[in-house]
Parts: sequence; structure tokens; C-alpha cells
Amino acid sequence: MCVFCKIVEGEIPCNKILESDEFLCFHDANPRAPIHLLIIPKKHVENFQEMSPELMSAMTPFIQEVAKKMGVDLSGYRLLTNNGEDGGQEVPHFHFHLLGGTKLSWSHFTPDDTHKAL
Ligand code: AMP
Repeated sequence: MCVFCKIVEGEIPCNKILESDEFLCFHDANPRAPIHLLIIPKKHVENFQEMSPELMSAMTPFIQEVAKKMGVDLSGYRLLTNNGEDGGQEVPHFHFHLLGGTKLSWSHFTPDDTHKAL
């Protein structure tokens, strides 16, 4: 069972923000912003590539509710998902990172990295 499935099952604790029948939101254990949450479907889906449009669609209002609860719905936030090996995905259970609480920079890679990849 993957680590996020263990969190869903209550085998590993989490710092929970919001829960519904289908989704769970909790604090990232290694925050990279003042607000850094993880939002997951309770059902095990490996990554974005495997997500159904139905589950993705149902996730939208849940994420919006999380943003409201954290008070960042108007100030703004970043939603991102790392997909697969090159995307830097470490936990093979689909999740969005919700980052906020400050003005976020955009610096995943330098222009030099970009040129090397072309
Ligand atoms: P990713 O690289 O997109 O797969 O991100 C996985 C994220 O899960 C990382 O930011 C980790 O800090 C976080 N993480 C891993 N295990 C736990 C855990 N048990 N509780 C909370 N966050 C976790």
C-alpha cells in the first residue's frame, strides 16, 4: 500500500485540513511555502495521467473549498502536480500541491537548464 493510501486508511497520521467522501487534504510534511498542502483522491490513482475526467471534475469544488478555508481563495495560490519520473513525482498516488501564503516565484529551472534540454 502506498504512503498516501496508508494516510487515507489512518495507518499513518496526517495534519488534516479537509476531508470528503472522495478526497483528503493535509499539510505537506516538508513544506516549501508558508502554506503547502497536499490534496489527494482517497482512491488510489497513480498520477495525473491515470486520472478520470469525472474524478478530476469532482476534485475542483473540493480544492476551491480548501482554498477558501485557508483564506487564499482571493489572494491567490499555486496548484501543481508532479507527473511521473521526469516530473519529479516521489509519491505514486495522484496529488495536487497547493502552495500559497506568499508571493511565489517561478524558478523551477534556469534559462541555462532550458537550453540544455532543447
Ligand atoms: P511529489 O514529489 O509531488 O510526489 O510530492 C510528494 C510530497 O509528499 C512531498 O512534498 C513530501 O514532502 C510529501 N510527503 C511524503 N510523505 C508524507 C507524509 N507522510 N505526510 C505528509 N506529506 C508527505
